[in-house]
Amino acid sequence: MPTVYTIPPKTYFEIASLGYLLVLYLISFNDPNRKRFRSYKLFRALEINMLLALLVSVLTYVFAYPELGTPIFICTILRTMDSIMCVMASRVFAIYLLESVDSGKSLKVIGTVGNVIFAVYIGLMLLNLPLKFILWYTPEGVYMHGALFVPIVFMPPVYYLASGIVMLIIRMNLLGPRERVALSAASIITLLGTIVQALTDGKLLLSLPFGAVGIFVLYFSLETSDYHQLVTSNEKLIIAEQDAIKANRAKSDFLASMSHEIRTPLNAVLGMDELILGEIQPEAGITPETAAQIREYAVNIKDAGQILLSVINDILDLTKIESGKMEIKAAQYSLRTLTGDIDTLIRLKAEQKDLTYIQNIDPSIPDRLVGDELRIRQIMINLLNNAVKYTDSGEVRLEIESRELSEDSVELCISVKDTGIGIRSEDIPHIFGNFKRLDEEHNHRIEGTGLGLSIVKRMTEMMNGRVDVESEYGKGSVFTVRIPQTMDRKETEEGNGESRENAGRITSFSTPDCVYLVVDDNRLNLFVATRFMDELGGTTETAASGPEALQKMREKKYDMIFMDHMMPGMNGVETLKASLKDAENKNKDTPMLMITANALNGVKEEYLQYGFTDYLSKPLDINELKRTVLLHLPKGKVKVKG
Ligand code: ADP
Repeated sequence: MPTVYTIPPKTYFEIASLGYLLVLYLISFNDPNRKRFRSYKLFRALEINMLLALLVSVLTYVFAYPELGTPIFICTILRTMDSIMCVMASRVFAIYLLESVDSGKSLKVIGTVGNVIFAVYIGLMLLNLPLKFILWYTPEGVYMHGALFVPIVFMPPVYYLASGIVMLIIRMNLLGPRERVALSAASIITLLGTIVQALTDGKLLLSLPFGAVGIFVLYFSLETSDYHQLVTSNEKLIIAEQDAIKANRAKSDFLASMSHEIRTPLNAVLGMDELILGEIQPEAGITPETAAQIREYAVNIKDAGQILLSVINDILDLTKIESGKMEIKAAQYSLRTLTGDIDTLIRLKAEQKDLTYIQNIDPSIPDRLVGDELRIRQIMINLLNNAVKYTDSGEVRLEIESRELSEDSVELCISVKDTGIGIRSEDIPHIFGNFKRLDEEHNHRIEGTGLGLSIVKRMTEMMNGRVDVESEYGKGSVFTVRIPQTMDRKETEEGNGESRENAGRITSFSTPDCVYLVVDDNRLNLFVATRFMDELGGTTETAASGPEALQKMREKKYDMIFMDHMMPGMNGVETLKASLKDAENKNKDTPMLMITANALNGVKEEYLQYGFTDYLSKPLDINELKRTVLLHLPKGKVKVKG
């Protein structure tokens, strides 16, 4: 080494950059919060690459001089490594840029071209060692550049940086204002350094110092942990906002569909009523033709009313499920009785459409099970109603099998098969959504709300079961529900079947000596109840409020009392409680039946606890009324007809 040696001034920038990059390295590498960032690894790779490139470059421009005594071989290696490290650093820089703009497919293409360029570049640099056409030292120790030096050494970094910048420009609208400025500034500064160094044939060593400035800009604008935390919480906020918008939209859709579904049958009811009023001309009286016409309108009103009722029931059920208010109440029941009831109901509907209805219940399934009979019934009826609704010809089949789960529990496997219109495979994932009606072009004539299957799925899941669908479009569908049930091997003293048998003989009796009291604040409800009671014979009295009912109970002994639940002032439960405390009440042993619209939630036990004998659900069903009256009246009061 010469005695007076000064470090070449052109390396001053590089040495300074090395210093501040080391500081940056120390700050950023000791920050544990940064490890969670998506860009953490890439930025670290960028820092390390740039640091090594700067180190090799400083070593090269300080020591790669044969006149200093460095062997020519080492000088050549240093010059080669210096170039390779620069290219590597620019490549990682470009990958960082591309990842930041998230360019997906284009990233792959640019990346592949970049790999090819890098492989060719490395190949040429290796060939240069023996062939000496890019950079080399003469035997006298003079450093030389070939004509290909600038294109080969500077072309790859320029390609990498330029492709990064182009993608940045294309994707600019995907970035936030801070990303735009930081990424643009960092990449332009780095590219500028590289171009200046290339144009001055390496006399100004600005490529790496400018690259290091670019990294500095990136770190303090995009890579600090507080900025990342801000971005993460912003992303969470955006997701929460989208969820809120979705939930709000779902609620609006729900309300819109609900009001549509309710208004349709209601319109029919009002329209038919209007027609009836038009038919009845007081002066002309009612001719047999008008009577027939009125009857037809009344049947239509009944159909529309039933649809309305089922829509409201479905909505109530769903609301209860969603608000967590629906409970599964397990009690003993008879599977044969349940399927018998269902057979009667569905066979009638199937026959009206000329469909064959087949029930196949595996005889080895124990009859006495413990579970929520009401919900299982609802699930089966929903699926079977759909099967009948969506089938025009052929058959509907209910099959029940069981699989033993343990000594005292089985899994009921209930399949409902039809030969109907089927469901498109792409629609299957959506059929269990609320208000989801599919294939509208085929289904628009079929009544439905799109709530039935949603209820089936949720109820099944509440009972720890699951529901599966298989369907072939145009050929038919199979819905399979699997629910675990406990087996009840004990014989019950008061057989369920027996009371049902009694209740089954509903049409052929009358109660001419009975006096009934119906309590309801609603005039129309009193009217309907009194008309229904007329069919039983006997006398029916009414009370329009709790206090009026209490007064009547003091005056007379009734055979049965029907009490509405929701009444202003004193409700049905309060009236019952007051009557039990009232010393003058003559009806303390009289069967008292609750009439309630709140019948969907399995509230029977609750009413029985208050002291009611039984309950009937609103709107009143004449057969249900007769069945209940028969069940609770003393035998002597019932006269069997015929
Ligand atoms: P809906 O009241 O419309 O019948 P559901 O929730 O019961 O509502 O059913 C949702 C949709 O699933 C229906 O609109 C219909 O497109 C389809 N679907 C249900 N059951 C069947 C079936 N057995 N065959 C064909 N399609 C069915």
